[in-house]
Amino acid sequence: MDNCLFCKIAAEQIPAKIIYQDEDVLAFEDINPQAPHHILLISRRHIPSISDLTPEDGPLLAHLFTVANKLSIKMGLGEGGYRFVTNVGPDAGQSVFHLHFHLLGGRKLSWPPG
Ligand code: AMP
Ligand code: ZN
Repeated sequence: MDNCLFCKIAAEQIPAKIIYQDEDVLAFEDINPQAPHHILLISRRHIPSISDLTPEDGPLLAHLFTVANKLSIKMGLGEGGYRFVTNVGPDAGQSVFHLHFHLLGGRKLSWPPG
């Protein structure tokens, strides 16, 4: 999609520290990390947020979550664990309207989030 930051990162038109990619998903480092490990996992296809998902997106989501877990183990978070979250809409502070999940780890994360 034109004028979408994460579509441009997926197309490698804007640089990012990409740590994993395949034909459906991409993982890269968040530019403003909130934890020692903070990466974003996105679908390659432009989907604005969770609220635009359909039942047909089930396999894509399962793949995204599986990739996230594999990456968490590679990052050394197997024992300590991690948080995997997505923001939807203004109250949650969504700022980029291309489906993405934050994978955060490497420190004790408080609950509930602010
Ligand atoms: P959200 O606020 O949940 O929509 O998350 C958007 C995230 O994208 C924020 O954590 C930003 O730090 C991150 N972000 C914005 N621009 C970039 C960029 N060019 N490369 C990597 N991460 C980015
Ligand atoms: Zn997009």
